[in-house]
Amino acid sequence: MTQEYVWLITGANRGIGLEMVKQLLQSPANIIVAAARDPAKATELQRLAEKAGGKLRLLALDVTDKESINKAAKEVAEPLGGKGIDYLINNAGVMLGGEDMVFSMDVDILTKTFATNVGGPALVTQAFIGLVEKSEKKTVVNISSTVGSIASDFGAKAASYAISKAALNMLTYKEAKEKPDITVISMCPGWLQTDLGGPDAILPVSVGVEGVLKTILALKPEDSGKFFNFQGQGVPW
Ligand code: NDP
Repeated sequence: MTQEYVWLITGANRGIGLEMVKQLLQSPANIIVAAARDPAKATELQRLAEKAGGKLRLLALDVTDKESINKAAKEVAEPLGGKGIDYLINNAGVMLGGEDMVFSMDVDILTKTFATNVGGPALVTQAFIGLVEKSEKKTVVNISSTVGSIASDFGAKAASYAISKAALNMLTYKEAKEKPDITVISMCPGWLQTDLGGPDAILPVSVGVEGVLKTILALKPEDSGKFFNFQGQGVPW
């Protein structure tokens, strides 16, 4: 019998999350829990779930809403029938400030961006860590961006987004240090053609996601606490 791995992906109704679901469905080894704010409106996910014969389940989860997260964590456990979550992918994210810069940015936008991009992954991982620790792979992936890497020197623009992703990278580091039994990484998927990536984005979402999944599947426990790009290379903080 094929060894099965369970994936939980937040923000799975469009963009990178949806493409991850599509690519993971190509292997019978994967059981996918696709989390979305409103699964009733996630028509593409529903269509995929109908064809997937139980390999794809939909879950309501708003990463900024503690109640929604805790409810989702309770709901997910039973259908998994004692299995844990091998790969928890904190993918949901926003870029609310566009190309804002620090001396003129709206701090309310920074706070809202933080709630989704940093608070979201923190809360989701807190709520689901028991299931992650129960699994074989015990892996958490925080979808970050090289825009949040100080060493990559991307300049003044996209300040609130970049600050949130730099903070997310520190979250990754702290999670890895606190729990050496799990593997936690930050991952930059590349500049991809999604709503968030915008019209100038360089790569089709399928190319970035292919690289992301390949990199995740090749992770070793000693990679925990590190930052990778979709080509499997380490990104400097
Ligand atoms: P999209 O804008 O295409 O999709 C964002 C997803 O996040 C949607 O499913 C959205 O759901 C979900 N989301 C937003 N807020 C919440 C919330 N509060 N609760 C649950 N889900 C939420 O973006 P991408 O697919 O491009 O981005 C995915 C991740 O990749 C983000 O973390 C982003 O920062 C990161 N990234 C993207 C890059 C790119 O070039 N595209 C580059 C580097 C990183 P809904 O439909 O309900 O709004």
